[in-house]
Amino acid sequence: MNTELSIEFFPPQTAEGLVKLRAERAKLAALRPAFFSVTYGAGGSTRERTFAIVKEIAAEGFDAVPHLSCVGSTRANIREALGEFRAAGIRRIVALRGDLPSGMAETGELRHANELVEFIRAESGDTFQIIVAAYPEWHPQAKNPETDLQNFARKASAGANAAITQYFYNADAYFYFVEKAQKLGVEIPIIPGIMPIVSFYKLARFSDACGADIPRWMRRQFESYADDVESIRAFGLEAVTRLCERLLQGGAPGLHFYSMNQSALVLEIQRRLGG
Ligand code: FAD
Repeated sequence: MNTELSIEFFPPQTAEGLVKLRAERAKLAALRPAFFSVTYGAGGSTRERTFAIVKEIAAEGFDAVPHLSCVGSTRANIREALGEFRAAGIRRIVALRGDLPSGMAETGELRHANELVEFIRAESGDTFQIIVAAYPEWHPQAKNPETDLQNFARKASAGANAAITQYFYNADAYFYFVEKAQKLGVEIPIIPGIMPIVSFYKLARFSDACGADIPRWMRRQFESYADDVESIRAFGLEAVTRLCERLLQGGAPGLHFYSMNQSALVLEIQRRLGG
């Protein structure tokens, strides 16, 4: 079973959060992930913090992967970021369109992620491996599944090397998406993004916004636990571990964990998977 693993963090807003992230990262390092990635706040709002954490991770000897979005940005800004990455020895980037922060109207010079991938390739040749986003349950702004899939394929044609999906809890959605993408000629690995479940209610709110579905059988089970945090944790662990098992058995090329800067659930899921 291929269990290549990667783990995502977000840049904390406080010094305390940063200290905590270092401690959680040290625990996750025991899993020897292929890389740690760090998100980029909407419209580049965390740019300095993202770069600082990426550099810190790289200095610890790990493959550190910055996310980079183009919305609200200029070619000059992106060129500058690529120069900084190259100087820091970064070899992989998660390239995204991103979302505009509320109140920001300027969309920027590159409108979609495929344009960002093209720009990175034109500027930097093969310096970077480029990872893009995929949506097995479709991007919330997609006109329809077919055009969303074609737009995904454009990112691969523009030079992306791999994709990571939005999280999902329905393995069939992932397998169907991969099959359809392959029929369109997409050959890059599509790595499932896995969201461990800490708080069902927070997850439900977030999922509505990003278009990820929590299946009814899971919702009903979580709702039956009301505020029983232990039962929510136990069921969440069971459901997500089963999902990972199915994905890996079905040929998923690895797992990418949205850690939410916490190690415990990722470590426990990996332990149950025998990793
Ligand atoms: P695109 O691939 O550009 O797609 C966006 C929409 O436009 C889709 O509906 C698509 O069908 C359509 N589209 C795409 N290309 C074209 C085209 N050429 N012409 C017309 N329509 C097109 N957000 C952040 O702000 N920071 C992060 O760090 C971050 N990390 C993420 C990591 C992963 C693994 C994932 C899955 C998402 C992440 N996001 C992040 C969220 C992401 O930025 C949003 O989902 C955003 O709305 C879309 O970004 P994208 O790169 O998928 O965009």
